[in-house]
Amino acid sequence: MSNIPTAVGEAVRAGLDRMKAAGCSFADARYYDEDRSQGLMLRDGNLEFNSGQLERGIGVRVLFNGAWGFAASGDLAAVAATFDRALGNARAAARLPGFPKTMGEAQPVQGRYEPPVKRDPFDVPLAEKLDLLKGIDTALQDKAVAHRSVYVNFQRRHVFYWNTEGTAVDRKALNTFGTIAAMAPDKEGRMQRRSVELASDGAGTRGYEWLADPACFSGHAARVKDELAQIVAAEPLPAGKRHLIILPGQGFLQVHETIGHALELDRILGYELSFAGGSHVRPEMIGTLRYGSNLLNCRAGVVHNSPGTFGYDDEGSPQRDYYLIKQGILVDVLSSRADLAEANAKAGRTVVTRSGTAARACAFYRTPIDRMTNINIDYGDGGTLDDIIKATPDGVIVDVPVSWSIGSNREHFHFGCEIAWEVKDGRKGKVYKNPTYHGHTLEFWNSLDMVGSRPTWRLQQVPNCGKGEPNQIMELGHGIPVMRFAGVLVGEKE
Ligand SMILES: [Zn+2]
Repeated sequence: MSNIPTAVGEAVRAGLDRMKAAGCSFADARYYDEDRSQGLMLRDGNLEFNSGQLERGIGVRVLFNGAWGFAASGDLAAVAATFDRALGNARAAARLPGFPKTMGEAQPVQGRYEPPVKRDPFDVPLAEKLDLLKGIDTALQDKAVAHRSVYVNFQRRHVFYWNTEGTAVDRKALNTFGTIAAMAPDKEGRMQRRSVELASDGAGTRGYEWLADPACFSGHAARVKDELAQIVAAEPLPAGKRHLIILPGQGFLQVHETIGHALELDRILGYELSFAGGSHVRPEMIGTLRYGSNLLNCRAGVVHNSPGTFGYDDEGSPQRDYYLIKQGILVDVLSSRADLAEANAKAGRTVVTRSGTAARACAFYRTPIDRMTNINIDYGDGGTLDDIIKATPDGVIVDVPVSWSIGSNREHFHFGCEIAWEVKDGRKGKVYKNPTYHGHTLEFWNSLDMVGSRPTWRLQQVPNCGKGEPNQIMELGHGIPVMRFAGVLVGEKE
């Protein structure tokens, strides 16, 4: 671990020793040597913004008498004082009622993680980035397109982590995001939109080379433009109960909202009620709840070109790849170490034994909370999208969310999508606009009756999941196959 800045490292080790001596059962520190981002947006061919951000600082967490205390500073000469403030906060919190937190047995780790990157986006000249964006913008231009937007965003972080168990982790992150969108009003004057996000088949690397690969990004511009014209000319999707075929561009949000957020342990324990809502899952359901049909296999996965892969979480735990839902049964949740004992106590039996390695903070000045990592659906044996269409007598295909409304406990949902295609007698038919569908989370996942094979599986990225108080914006991934659901209510009754 040669890269640790010596002065900060020494001050942190001294601080951790002092916290132990003061009676803390655990303490840790995250030093962000660099936390950098850049966002570029081209709108109707004009550079709307080129925004950058650079932060550096340290966040300290201590566990005293079963209560957390947190403090952070951008002043690297103030490391000792930051530990003292964290301890003061923990002492104050320990006087409040609450389930006592415990980290369980010590799990010392020495580690290092670097994501696979061929070309660092921060080394790419601005002119080259703008050329890529302009090329896409040109491909979107058409008299039928009223507005065009091309947005890219890059993140780079270098984080050192230490704790009182002797863990030391040196971790880098590099993320690349992109969105292409075209918009035009339909004959009712409603703005229609067709878009695509930078995605992959789960292979490949995570740097600028990904964005520059036409198969993953720029090559979709012509299709986006053509499909927008079809949407603008289309009729609204009629209401009915039909088979629903969800492409990964929509499936990721279905999984995100009705599985991912519902399985965050802090939410299950009620800690997010005041801000982001609760969960229909209760601790005693872990291990027994039938969440979906036998075809549903969902995991917190490790996919190396995804922003949800980070090597070690913000408690220093090596990131695990494990099932959340296996053959439809809820078997585990997204967790960190300190809430496991409370979940087991509330369940009245042991329902969780290991951290879900999901403790993540969005910045040095925020404390880690339970976050999604890569919430993936395993591909199945339903074949290609064409195979699924051929097996469908009466259905609808949907792609890409435009609106969503989710019950406060994630128990039901309503989605609006950019585009739908009719499926009749095993053939893909006409395009519909304004498609919507809704359902009850558990009934819906239990109606999953076809899961596409490996070629349909796609890694989608989420750059902006919000959670926590104060709000933390986090990036993550979803690997999703094409999925078919039976008897779904689609469209709106007039
Ligand atoms: Zn979210």
